[in-house]
Amino acid sequence: MPARLIDGKAAALALRERIADEVARFRTATGRAPGLAVVLVGEHPPSAAYVRSKVKATREAGMESFEHRLAAAVTQDELTALIDRLNEDPTVDGILVQLPLPAQIDERAIITRISPDKDVDGFHPVNAGRLAIGLHGFVPCTPLGCLMLLQQELGDLTGLEAVVVGRSNIVGKPMALLLLRADCTVTVAHSRTRDLPDVVRRADIVVAAVGRPELIRGDWLKQGATVIDVGQERIELPDGTRKLVGDVAFDEAAEVAAAITPVPGGVGPMTIACLIRNTFVSAARREGVSYEKSL
Ligand code: NAP
Repeated sequence: MPARLIDGKAAALALRERIADEVARFRTATGRAPGLAVVLVGEHPPSAAYVRSKVKATREAGMESFEHRLAAAVTQDELTALIDRLNEDPTVDGILVQLPLPAQIDERAIITRISPDKDVDGFHPVNAGRLAIGLHGFVPCTPLGCLMLLQQELGDLTGLEAVVVGRSNIVGKPMALLLLRADCTVTVAHSRTRDLPDVVRRADIVVAAVGRPELIRGDWLKQGATVIDVGQERIELPDGTRKLVGDVAFDEAAEVAAAITPVPGGVGPMTIACLIRNTFVSAARREGVSYEKSL
């Protein structure tokens, strides 16, 4: 395998340790810990697992975690009332509502109800707008983590050709905006893109956020490209066992790329580390406490 493995687990651990140091200084300066409120509705097992990891990472960084578990039958009004309380609560710096929400809930209305200044997931339209026009706000955690991995691997990204495959609001679009902000020349591809392999072939940087197992093949890549694989899908192997794979055919791609993220152990751990980062940054901004800007 000629490609270098981009170790997201190690990068996430290093980021979490730096945040823990900053949190310790914050606690000394303010006499309180940064706080993240996590709202989980219903019993959806993958959501419960995500919430457990987020709570664990929050506590390991020395921050407070406030868990709110609501029944699947919760009403829009009840959930809205909880968000309003969390918006007002001075001990809460970040609010995360684990998605998806049950069908009776208007998800967009709930996300929009969160104060943009506590929206550590970066899903609020105000934060999407801030990112689009270059103002400080909160950037969604997964694309932020991808950018950090790219900058760690490549340093300055100026002038590089980047192709983002996928245009979702939570990954593809913010990823494209972050790469544009980093002075890349950015193409966003999607399900209606003509001749996707040819588009991908011109990229120095490929970010795959499609949700189609191993869609991107080795012979779609330019020699020496850097590949960030956001995809996470479980596929069934011929022997009936299940395996987690990404949107990139890893073994093929690793023969052509200069560097590539594995699945698992690539983008996933950075997503949680960036949530912790955003929560700390929210607390620091709210209290006027300075912090290392490279975080
Ligand atoms: P999504 O909302 O379903 O968006 C998928 C995007 O891929 C859409 O823009 C879609 O195009 C495009 N697409 C679908 N099929 C395509 C094809 N054949 N060719 C080209 N483009 C195609 O998914 P998402 O939420 O962005 O997530 C994408 C993947 O990332 C999933 O596997 C998800 O599990 C994973 N993910 C991982 C993390 C993490 O922390 N590691 C976080 C978030 C998501 P259209 O817009 O034209 O439909």
